[in-house]
Amino acid sequence: MADSSFDVVVIGAGPGGYVAAIRAAQLGFNTACIDRRGPPGGTCLNVGCIPSKALLQSSHHYEDATKHFADHGIEVGKVGFDLGKMLARKQKVVNDNTKGVEFLFKKNKITYIVGEAKITAPGQLSVGSDKISAKHIIIATGSDVTPLPGVEIDEKQVVSSTGALELTKVPGHLVVIGAGVIGLELGSVWHRLGAKVTVVEYLDRVLPTNDGEVSKQAQRIFEKQGLEFKLGTKVTGAKLGKKDVTLSLEPAAGGAAAELVADVVLVAIGRRPYTTNLGLENVGIAVDKRGFIPVDSHFQTSVPGIYAIGDVIGGAMLAHKAEDEGVALAEILAGQHGHVNYNAIPGVVYTWPEVAAVGKSEEQLKAEGVEYKVGKFPFTANSRARANGDTDGFVKILADAKTDEVLGCHIIGPSAGDLIGEVVLGMEFRAAAEDIARTCHAHPGLAEAVKEAALGVAGRAIHL
Ligand code: FAD
Ligand code: NAD
Repeated sequence: MADSSFDVVVIGAGPGGYVAAIRAAQLGFNTACIDRRGPPGGTCLNVGCIPSKALLQSSHHYEDATKHFADHGIEVGKVGFDLGKMLARKQKVVNDNTKGVEFLFKKNKITYIVGEAKITAPGQLSVGSDKISAKHIIIATGSDVTPLPGVEIDEKQVVSSTGALELTKVPGHLVVIGAGVIGLELGSVWHRLGAKVTVVEYLDRVLPTNDGEVSKQAQRIFEKQGLEFKLGTKVTGAKLGKKDVTLSLEPAAGGAAAELVADVVLVAIGRRPYTTNLGLENVGIAVDKRGFIPVDSHFQTSVPGIYAIGDVIGGAMLAHKAEDEGVALAEILAGQHGHVNYNAIPGVVYTWPEVAAVGKSEEQLKAEGVEYKVGKFPFTANSRARANGDTDGFVKILADAKTDEVLGCHIIGPSAGDLIGEVVLGMEFRAAAEDIARTCHAHPGLAEAVKEAALGVAGRAIHL
């Protein structure tokens, strides 16, 4: 590639970057997107959302066949699985998705450059020996695994989420460090395929950022499924043996140390912003103390003309949050009014049952001194959930005590990640719980549990 110049250059082709590039191109900007990985799609498509959901789906089918078909009177005989095929299918799903993004780049006449980008001066970048100039530079370099001191990741015996998506053998005993989203999703995958799974969590509950009642219920359900939890426990070191790993554990509150032996250890204690070799020092952009790039309400960094979006600026580290920021920023650059409503960003844990949340938790409302009402409805009382044989969990809606505006919704249950959508839409339109309660919902449907929870806010659920 010869030296070239563009209106917009996006660094990173993850959900933040590739979506920003597409929207910028739609708005008439001559746009390039650069990624050092090769296939576009970033963490999400290559080693995150998509491969993890492919394996969750495959392992869910296997578990249905081995544990649940019999409840429906279906006899399948001895059920087995071919892990190689399962992993190959996952990779095909990834490849099809990344090719889809390449197609979208072509369709939108976006120049896609594979290589590591370095910002050399305001409006100037280099990729290897090539020099590129841009009116607007968008940093969308995402995030990487947070390491745990004393527990070195070799992606074989001690793996990050990336290695946990590639295990060629089901481990006898998988120890997961961190009972967050990755720990529960990938812990579920390998547990369904036959591993004993122990999850070690520093705090005293699983999914610590979710609503407390949901966390408790999630722990109960996952324990019933067979996952084991060691809460309030920190891992202080790992010793690699020939075939196993011995972890040193300590109670977080202090006390006697213990050991735990695993075949494979998954470190899933969070992700941190990625800005290595980006050249921020060349333009004087300072990161904050956690490594995130500070931006203003228009996603501009401290340097005019250089913007940042997605995981690298912090907030919810979610693909759809990054995408929405990409769209908003491209529209702002085009003189429009791009905006992201951070109060209405859903978060979903794709275990089974799924866990979905939007808005405030009860703990947050209490801490903020907001008066609220609660409507709750269990899936045991929902006819579709009963017909499906999927009755674990509930829907909980939190609404302002005075105005009835929906402030939060927390669902643990079948297809929670899809059910939350109507509440997110409602919150975008500042719906009252009564608006959802008076909306006709098809029968028999899981979404009727959402309607009943909304009715429950006014104490008038019909089926409870
Ligand atoms: P990224 O997707 O991280 O993309 C950044 C890109 O920038 C990378 O491809 C990188 O190669 C490139 N890059 C970095 N530096 C340079 C440079 N100097 N030059 C060129 N290229 C560079 N989120 C969800 O919403 N739903 C999920 O189900 C979900 N599941 C997940 C499962 C796992 C196992 C993991 C790890 C994450 C998951 N996430 C999920 C989180 C999601 O992947 C991230 O929030 C999302 O990818 C962030 O998008 P981004 O565009 O900010 O960055
Ligand atoms: P997380 O923040 O969800 O969970 C990390 C967990 O590790 C927390 O419960 C935390 O208390 C615990 N922890 C931290 N330090 C510890 C220590 N030293 N010992 C034991 N436990 C410790 O992070 P994650 O699961 O690694 O996921 C990373 C990011 O990727 C998240 O921000 C998440 O949003 C995103 N992600 C999203 C999805 C999804 O949307 N379905 C799926 C996977 C990942």
